[in-house]
Amino acid sequence: MNQPASRSNEPLIHHWMPFTANKQFHDAPRIIARAEGVHYWNTAGEKLLDSVSGLYTTPAGHGRREIRDAVARQLEELDYAPAFQFGVPGSFRLATELAQMLPAGLNRVFFAGSGSEAVESALKVAIQYHRVRGQGQRQRIIGRARGYHGVNFGGWSVGGMVKNREAFGLGLPGVAHMRHTHIPENRFQMGQGEHGGVDLADDLQRMIDLYGADTIAACIVEPIAGSTGVLVPPKGYLERLREICTKHGILLIFDEVICGFGRTGAPFAADAFGVVPDMLTMAKAITNGNIPMAAVAVREDVQQAILDAAGPEAVEFFHGYTYSAHPVACAAALATLKIFREDDLFARGAALAPKFLERIAALRDVPIVIDTRGFGLLGAVDLAPEGGPGKRGFAVLRRAFEQGLVLRVAGDTVIFAPLFITTDDQLDEMFDKLRKVLATV
Ligand code: PMP
Repeated sequence: MNQPASRSNEPLIHHWMPFTANKQFHDAPRIIARAEGVHYWNTAGEKLLDSVSGLYTTPAGHGRREIRDAVARQLEELDYAPAFQFGVPGSFRLATELAQMLPAGLNRVFFAGSGSEAVESALKVAIQYHRVRGQGQRQRIIGRARGYHGVNFGGWSVGGMVKNREAFGLGLPGVAHMRHTHIPENRFQMGQGEHGGVDLADDLQRMIDLYGADTIAACIVEPIAGSTGVLVPPKGYLERLREICTKHGILLIFDEVICGFGRTGAPFAADAFGVVPDMLTMAKAITNGNIPMAAVAVREDVQQAILDAAGPEAVEFFHGYTYSAHPVACAAALATLKIFREDDLFARGAALAPKFLERIAALRDVPIVIDTRGFGLLGAVDLAPEGGPGKRGFAVLRRAFEQGLVLRVAGDTVIFAPLFITTDDQLDEMFDKLRKVLATV
């Protein structure tokens, strides 16, 4: 048996933390104890500015009373009911509200508990859709390098993070990857780059030429790859993917777990880019991050094909989670959508975006900055690596925390996703703090 850790970090060692440098954390914990508005407080009572909206989850601000009250009311009225063969009122209202908010045609909503689960659900819908239509050989899923679709087996396999393959091996068979869209020609471009869009999307056509369209069920992409560093698609890219998918009967899935709910300045990235997928996954901001919840919006006729294929009393889609459409999550989501509407929050986010992107672009003059990019309220800054990949990024995360700034890093990329309620002054504070930190690493 290994020796237990020293007394000082003993209270921390039992929690094996996700996507965290656990050993480092035990030595220098970063514990967030309270939140309100755009701020956190650490255990010493020091104030921190949130520049990532939680984890892209909380655009409406921390500690929203409307959500807290809705959750409390729901817990009093109905804490839980079985998700299978029974329903709760809130889920039907929520699905209808989402259908009204989503691009036309995406009006059947399946609920899950996390972004990862939403992705697995979408992939399974795609496979089954083709099977019930007599095209069961369509099993292949096309993803993309540097894609992130959560941590479950389908999601990490179709995702394109090298670390997953290093840690977990081969992943699902029948998966192929297009190139990512971050090309040097578009460096320092805010918004969509001018270069490479159609050619990069033609990777899908190359996969079709190689494997045959009749073996491909779906193509899944994040409209803007978020977790791997805010990779904004060049002009024409998503349009071309749509064109190829339509021509070859391949379902196009947009993973909008980060992009959804106003992050791009429109309700969904599909709206912002004017390209409508056949399925769209969402999570995070759906409850303002207050309760875990996710969903897949599905084109009506895709669902209908699956319903039609089964007998009148058969379970058509043999899939679901104990916490699908959890009543408390539905209550939190309904309260969140009401805030989005009543506070006109997407418009507020969109109004903040130009100044935000300007501040990101201005970092170009910092000597260690090698690229900046962004779209809506999602931005990233690449730093020149120093002392090994990710070391400088991690140093920025730690120093920023000490300076009262919570940000996100992916390797040596610093990612920003401010809350939609961030003020101009707070935006200035965010970037002034970042500049100070960058000067020390
Ligand atoms: N898809 C995308 C695009 C994501 O950004 C994430 C999470 N960052 C996920 C899926 C997985 O979501 P979760 O962590 O809720 O499982």
